[in-house]
Amino acid sequence: FIHFDQVTKSFGPLRVVDNLDLQVAKGEFVSLLGPSGSGKTTILMMLAGFEHPSHGAIWLDGTRIENLPSHKRNMGVVFQNYALFPHMTVAENVAFPLVMRGVGKGEAGERVARALDMVRLAHLKDRRPAQLSGGQQQRVALTRALVFEPTVVLMDEPLGALDKQLREHMQLELRDLHRKLGLTVIFVTHDQSEALTMSDRIAVFNRGRIEQLDTPEGIYDRPRTRFVAEFIGETN
Ligand code: ATP
Repeated sequence: FIHFDQVTKSFGPLRVVDNLDLQVAKGEFVSLLGPSGSGKTTILMMLAGFEHPSHGAIWLDGTRIENLPSHKRNMGVVFQNYALFPHMTVAENVAFPLVMRGVGKGEAGERVARALDMVRLAHLKDRRPAQLSGGQQQRVALTRALVFEPTVVLMDEPLGALDKQLREHMQLELRDLHRKLGLTVIFVTHDQSEALTMSDRIAVFNRGRIEQLDTPEGIYDRPRTRFVAEFIGETN
């Protein structure tokens, strides 16, 4: 469904993503796990259309997309710093991607109401981001990424700023949404336990290359390289 076909990305002399070959099935939840600087964010940026590969092709559902502008890729994107619009209410924030896509006011209103209901935020719809907790802001950001019904959702450390309890709650909620909506999720994290609990499969990255691509059980029980064993071992 998603296929990185021999993708390399360099910034000047620095090869950040090195000949990446990665396939993700429709409806799969795949985590990109690895230390800071291993290229995870750059991979998401190329998928979202904010960066372009130096070499190679990216396929989505049978179409080559690496040169398509980002708004034509129909992907929901959630980054760590929620980046909600501070001067807009919750409802206006969530409506934004619909307005951008030319959805009429009436229909946009209905879809926003439905989406906010689903994540149990309807009662906060008139608040501004500053009047919400971190977890609530994160749910608004997630709702905004889902409201236009993307088939693919890209998340870069979306839970990084939350405290432990909230983080665990959001992990469950995210898994739930993933299942309910049949979303394909690419999830960037440097948190081993988060990747292990949430993913169908995990790609462990080291210096722009995949060290191992496997189920959580495979990664945990049968690390294939010393790097994977040591990186996963840092969990506890
Ligand atoms: P983190 O978890 O810290 O975000 P990461 O695994 O997501 O790390 P990337 O953000 O993809 O890693 O960065 C990989 C490398 O590419 C880093 O060394 C970074 O400095 C470099 N890099 C990323 N974007 C650019 C850019 N626009 N110009 C130059 N170098 C960049």
